[in-house]
Formats: sequence, structure tokens, C-alpha cells
Amino acid sequence: MVAVVQREQIEVTGVVQGVGFRPFVHTLATELGLTGHVGNDSTKVFIEANGTGTDIDRFVYRLRNEAPPLAQIATVSRTRLATPQVPIGKEFTIVESEVVEGAPTLVPPDSAICDDCLGELNDPKDRRYRHPFITCTNCGPRFTIIESMPYDRDNTTMVGFEMCDACRCEYRDPKDRRYHAQPIGCHDCGPTLTQLTIDDAAALLRSGAVIAIKGIGGYHLACDATNDAAVASLRSRKHRADKPFAVMVGDLEQATRLATITPAEADLLTSSQAPIVLLIARDDTPLSPLVAPGNPLIGVMVAYTPMHHLLFGACSVPLVMTSANRSGEPLAYDASTLADLDDLFDAVLDHDRPIQTPCDDSVLRMVGSRLLPIRRARGYAPIPVRLAEPARSVLAVGGELKNTFCLAADGQAWISPHVGDMENLKTLDTFAAGVTRFRDMYDVSPDVVAVDAHPGYLSSSWARNNHSRHQIREVQHHHAHVASIMAEHGCDPNEPILGFAFDGTGYGDDGTIWGGELLLANAHRGERLAHLLPMALPGGDAAINNPSRVALSYLRQANIEWRSNLAPVAVTPNVELRLLAQQLERDVACTPCSSMGRLFDAVASLLGLRHRVSYEAQAAIELEILAQRSPPAKQDSRRYRFGLDASTIDPTPILVDIVEDLAADHPVGLIAWRFHDAVADAVLCLTTRYASRVTAPRVALSGGVFQNALLTQLCIDRLEAGGFDALTHSIVPPNDGGLALGQAFIAAHQEKN
Ligand code: ZN
Ligand code: ZN
Ligand code: FE
Repeated sequence: MVAVVQREQIEVTGVVQGVGFRPFVHTLATELGLTGHVGNDSTKVFIEANGTGTDIDRFVYRLRNEAPPLAQIATVSRTRLATPQVPIGKEFTIVESEVVEGAPTLVPPDSAICDDCLGELNDPKDRRYRHPFITCTNCGPRFTIIESMPYDRDNTTMVGFEMCDACRCEYRDPKDRRYHAQPIGCHDCGPTLTQLTIDDAAALLRSGAVIAIKGIGGYHLACDATNDAAVASLRSRKHRADKPFAVMVGDLEQATRLATITPAEADLLTSSQAPIVLLIARDDTPLSPLVAPGNPLIGVMVAYTPMHHLLFGACSVPLVMTSANRSGEPLAYDASTLADLDDLFDAVLDHDRPIQTPCDDSVLRMVGSRLLPIRRARGYAPIPVRLAEPARSVLAVGGELKNTFCLAADGQAWISPHVGDMENLKTLDTFAAGVTRFRDMYDVSPDVVAVDAHPGYLSSSWARNNHSRHQIREVQHHHAHVASIMAEHGCDPNEPILGFAFDGTGYGDDGTIWGGELLLANAHRGERLAHLLPMALPGGDAAINNPSRVALSYLRQANIEWRSNLAPVAVTPNVELRLLAQQLERDVACTPCSSMGRLFDAVASLLGLRHRVSYEAQAAIELEILAQRSPPAKQDSRRYRFGLDASTIDPTPILVDIVEDLAADHPVGLIAWRFHDAVADAVLCLTTRYASRVTAPRVALSGGVFQNALLTQLCIDRLEAGGFDALTHSIVPPNDGGLALGQAFIAAHQEKN
């Protein structure tokens, strides 16, 4: 029997450019004996395949399942074409790129050096031995060097490097690992180090100097992380008191000397995204205590560029690698932005491959086997989230702190990399430039501009100044948090879901501060079912840096006397105590606040852990790690429980119990654990109470408080035991870095009027 030859047009969208997709298709088709061609345009990879139906089915199956490591397939569509009368060629070929109208294919994210390239980097016989910019189709810079789409060398910052003959041969050979790898080069034709050599940089680092190092998305400031004087000098130059610095190590083995690492954490550290992973530091860590003063979590990443690997070859100590910027300002990424910082470093390990789009390092934690993003940038940006029902095109401008923005159209939500805290004009400029760039790159002109309802956010006022009144859509802060989970998990925009939004500060519908909310939410509305009983936040935002003031206010609300044996009372001068008592009594400059983040601060202060913070979540992190190290013994049956009625979560009984346990000398770690347990218990109790309001037993957990891995794990365990699915973040952060996605989800699905 003669097999019938069919002819099919196959179109693939997703991250399929700049990731070795066409040579992969070529190899696969040839192996299966198909003829035809593969090419890409600015919106997709297109394939014409001729062969038997079975072979084409097999081809499509393997296309989806064996795609190259950096590829992410969104859709595959197949169309039968008329079988031509004339023979259709004997070969499968690769055709040139075309530029067409339509939604562009996804810009690939940057990737850490692959094992093949690392092998060549260290192989004296290889022609790229010790080439600091070695790359291939499976690794290297992408998003940060792309100027426009389609992704071709001429549209990247590599345009200025004319390939030598040897590189050009590899680039043109479909069987070569470097076929159409846009950033390739070699010692003869590629980028070069322009100031220090690797050996000079290593010698300076060993001597305690601070070096600026140009990476993929910008400059780092680096110093020897085991040298107290070097780290102290970096801290004083950056005017950074306690906020932890991230550390880079040469390999996983070196990382295990700094922190205890689970297999899931090891996988993440060595992934192609190579993010900063927050790990629990070992007691015998060789790091200077100044790297993360008083903080049991340490941010670690593994060297991810060939230049980093060469540097660690010459200088094997762990290095502080912190973004080159002044506190709160954007990252330096070129000569002029670096020049503004020249008092912060002693020398520069620099190179001449330009960075088109700056991009910080990403930060993640693991909760068991679940990813928990804290900052989404290099390696993940700009991969979009697919929206179930594309409706309107939206620009969502995000929040104030840890800002990101999001552009949604054609069923995709493109989230910007981490922009930063919108508290100064330089960050606002970076934000505005980023918005323009995304609009150009994805060719989107938004119908709606979504903003947080907070009247004081810089992102919101920027939106109002740059767009017409009719375009603006205000989105309540905690509704956006819950919606960001819905977007990540592909939830039906019309189907209500129960969502807990626990965070530090968000503007509530009644003008007070919210942050301990249970919402019944879909894309159209977020109904406040229950919330943490509001307390009086004395001095509004000023109290945020002073957990002891929050604790005192909570004690007063719980009718617990301010006795001097209580830690927050003991650390507060009598004069201040009197003034605060009067302030609370007369309700002067006190804002009602239902923030779960503040309750964590108050408990941290009550336990004597921390009474003043110099960076966000400092007290809560210490409370979490203390609790995590102190799980109760099996026979310990003491539990704390919130007072729960239909709509309020009252912490009074817990505060009473904590004070009692402190008086009875219970270990503070155990008290901290019981507190976490009580919050998880409240989450399950309220979920059970309101379960009849939703059809699917699913619960969203969002808001900055869920950066707490212990709390998140306890909530997941409780909810699952109760028969519910706990939806957590794995793409955008639970903190305000995830707001823009939620705003976009809500605005994209709002009814047209
Ligand atoms: Zn490679
Ligand atoms: Zn070359
Ligand atoms: Fe928030």
C-alpha cells in the first residue's frame, strides 16, 4: 500500500525565536523524513510539512514535547493544504525571516550560560577558550539586547559587531549549535572587555575593593562577601543600613557552604533563569555578618555569564553582587548612568556589548516545590501571561513600591521587569521609557489605563497626566492582588473566587488602610467578605517603620495594660508612651488600618525581636524564620485562635494568649509558630464559612504577607486538608510587583460602556 502524502501548514506561537527553534524543527522533520520548510516572521514560526498523516502527527507531538530548553510554546495550529500536482521537493529547508503585521512572537528572556558553552569556555583547545561572551542558541542575552522584532542580529545591540568568517559559518549552518544565534562572536569579532582584565578585577576584589561589573541587564557593585571591611565600605557608600545584599557564587557547591539548600532550591539556582534564591543561611556561613545583618535569609545566585565564570575562576570567594544604583534609583546600565555613581566603586570590569533594556536580577523563594517570586525580572521578563478571554487592550500602571507595569492585548499580558519604588523622578522616567518601549515593541495602543485607587500614587498621577479621563479605570488594591492570581491561573473572569489579600498597605474603598482582606472576587468586582479588625495606626505611615508603636496600639485595643515587662513598652521612653496614649485616646492622626502586615510587625515587637525596621518586611522575616526553626512538639496542644465572626478577624484573643505565654516564659520561637498557625487556621475557617458562595473549591492567596514561605505552606496544608485548592503565585510576586497583572486582568474584562 502506498502511503498518501499530505501537505500541512503548521504555525507555532510563543517563545520560539532566538531559542534554536528552527534548527530543532529542521532536525526533527529531516529525521521523520518530512519535506517542506520552516521560517519565522515577527508573529510566529511557520512550517510547511509534507509526509504521511502519521508522520506529521508524530512530528507535531514531538514538536511540543521535545522543544529546545529555552522555547515556550503557546499555540500550535494545523491547516491541511491542497496537495500539489507537482513534486514538492526532496528536502526540508529553513527560509529567511519575514516582517508581517500582527501580534509579534514573544521576545525571549535572557538565559544563563549553558553547559556546552561552559565546557568550551574551559577547554584550551576550543577557539572560544576564555571568551567572556561565549553564547549559543541555548543561552546568553536576549531581551536586554533586542531593539526590535523579529529577533535578528540586525535588530539587536550586536549589530555593531561584524561576524568573522568562522562565526558566520557556524551561524549559517543549520546543524550547528550556533545556527542563527544572534549574539555570537569570538575573540576575533565579538565584544571585548574594555577596562579591567579579569585578573586585575579579581586582584582588586581580593584586596577589598568595590568593583562595578557589567552583566546582562546592567551593572552590579561587587566586593568580597567574606571581608567585613569591604562590605562595610560598600554599605557606607550606598548609604544602606541593614537591607541585605545578594551574593553570587561560582557554582552550586560553593552555594551549599553558605546555606542549607533543598533539591528544589538547587534546581532553581542552576536553572537557565539563574535568579537570586532566598535561602536560610547556615550557622557556619563564611559570609561577613554585614552582608545581611540580623537577617536569617540570604539571597544567593550562581554565576550566570561567561564573564562571571572567568572571574570566579580567578577569585573563588563569594561576592556581594548588588544592583549598581543609589537607594531607590534605577539600575545603571550604560556609561552615562554609571558615571553618576562613580563615588560608589573603585574600578570597572566593563565591556562593549550595549544593553538596550536594563533588567535587574530576579528574586524567588521556594515553598516546598512551589515557586514563590519576590521580584520578577531577568530570566522571566518579558514572558507574558495568557489571558483566557482577550477583551480590551490595557495599560496597567501598577502600584507605588516594587512597581511593574503591564500591557495587555490580543490575549497576552506582558509584564515589565521590576521597575522599582516610584518615589523619585528617575524611577518615574525609567517607568515612562519602559511603557513607551513596550507599546512600540508589541504595537499596542491601550483602550483602558488601569491605576490603583490610591490618590497619592505617582504611577496613578502619571497615568492621569498622560491619558484622557475616559480611559482611566481605578482598581482597588486588594482586588488587584486577588485578580493577579486569577490571571496567573487562567481563572474564568466571570466566575467568583475566594481570595485572601494580606499585605502591608493598600487604599481601601472607605479611604482607610486595608490589608487583611477576604474578598469574593471576579474580574468585575471584589466584595469585601471579611477583614482583620482595624486598629488605630498612630501617625499613619510613620508607624510602619516602628513595629513597637503598632504593638502598643494593638495592646491598648486589646485592653492589655502597658506593663514595663512587655518588650514594646520597655523600649519606649515614658514621655513617648504618655504622648502615644493621649494620641490614641483622642484619636489624633490615627488611621484605621486592617493590615495583616502590621499585625506581624506588632507580634515581632511583642516578642522582642524588632522594634524599628530599616527596610520593608524586616520584622516579619525575622518572625517567620524564628517560627520556622521552632515547630511545636507533637504533644504540644496549645493553639492561638482569632476571634472570627461573619465579617471580622479579631486578633484580641491571640494578643492575650501571647502576653500570657510570654509571662509563663514559653520560648518565643514557639509563640511565633503558634501565631503563624493561627493565621492559617483563620484562612481555613473563613474559607469553609464562605465556601457556598463559590462553585469551585479554590482559594487565592495574595499580597505581600504571602512572601512568608512558612505562612504560605501552612495555609496550603490547611486548605488542602480541608478539600480546597490553594492558588499561590508562581509567575508574578504576591507583593505589589504583581499588582499590574491583576489591574490588567480586571480592566481587560470590564464591560464596555
Ligand atoms: Zn550556550
Ligand atoms: Zn568570530
Ligand atoms: Fe499590596
